[in-house]
Amino acid sequence: MYIARILYPVKVLGPGNRVGIWFDGCSHACKGCSNPELWEFQAQYSTSIDTVIKLINTIRESQVIDGFTITGGDPFEQPEDLRKLLEYARNVSSDVLVYTGYDYLYLQNKYSNILKLITVLIDGVYIEEKNDNSFLKGSSNQNIIILDESYKNKYEQYLADGINEIQNFTAKDGVISVGIHRVGDEEELDAKITKMGLEDKV
Ligand code: SF4
Repeated sequence: MYIARILYPVKVLGPGNRVGIWFDGCSHACKGCSNPELWEFQAQYSTSIDTVIKLINTIRESQVIDGFTITGGDPFEQPEDLRKLLEYARNVSSDVLVYTGYDYLYLQNKYSNILKLITVLIDGVYIEEKNDNSFLKGSSNQNIIILDESYKNKYEQYLADGINEIQNFTAKDGVISVGIHRVGDEEELDAKITKMGLEDKV
């Protein structure tokens, strides 16, 4: 499987302290995508489900995992590995939020077995012209679909109160900026990071 990064604690893409997992590989090629470096499958991101599980278990040893946010790239470009990861993740926390560029209806027809393992799905491609800073959504055409009824109240409350925030993680070779970016945020961040002598990794 191809995984570009795993971060903890991600606080801005779902409630609580979450494990964020970025799949590598995406065929949607949305204009204005904030992660174009993750479009191609890259050998440097090749890993195994066992390695990913080991890493998550290491986090679990000392931290509370409130949920998972799985994004990319598009996780549904690697459906079988996504299924395996979800099966494991649900044993740690049943709050698993997944971003995808595919539409829910398409996924329902093709991958209903995977949707059963997802708590909240945010679907649809990113449309730059529709980036209105909606909470958790890159653009207003996307849908936040609560698939697990038992999380309905929790997420309705969370979504009602939410505003988008950006969280920056410092990596050894640069800064990883996590969250829903407005149009123009990237350029602003790049300028700040360059000034600090670092490299923007997202
Ligand atoms: S689906 Fe997401 S990762 Fe893929 S091109 Fe669109 S915005 Fe980028």
